[in-house]
Amino acid sequence: MDCIFCAIIEGKAEAEIVYEDEATVAFMDINPANPGHTLVVPRQHVRDVFDIDEETAAAVMRAAVRVARAIKAALQPDGVNLMQASGPAAFQSVFHFHFHVVPRWWDDSLKLPWRPTPGAPSVIQAAASRIRENIGR
Ligand code: 5GP
Ligand code: ZN
Repeated sequence: MDCIFCAIIEGKAEAEIVYEDEATVAFMDINPANPGHTLVVPRQHVRDVFDIDEETAAAVMRAAVRVARAIKAALQPDGVNLMQASGPAAFQSVFHFHFHVVPRWWDDSLKLPWRPTPGAPSVIQAAASRIRENIGR
């Protein structure tokens, strides 16, 4: 399988690694949205949020929290975004699960990718009802 993140994890491709544990690796994104933009990945090759088991997901989130706190201490950002894309329609371009940890500053140029607009309560409730029916399946 041709996966750039697996190659990084296996030491076969270059990356600026900042954190490793038994289940995860974190390294710098080569196209940083802001200085310090870091990716946190499971060692196990899983594609996306639909593919990852809950234990591995928890390990990736724990590592992401550690990385976010290290970024906060190192770079003193005003905030941090944790972002995860699952599926091409959601901006995923590398199909090995990862969290983006993106330091944020008040004066950076990043924008929220949607415009908050009130939804119709009936539409919100219908979606909530369908989600509730499918939780845990
Ligand atoms: P996605 O679009 O899937 O959410 O994010 C993939 C990220 O991986 C992008 O931000 C991209 O810059 C980063 N990326 C792609 N190829 C490489 C690579 O070879 N090395 C590193 N460090 N990051 C990469
Ligand atoms: Zn992989």
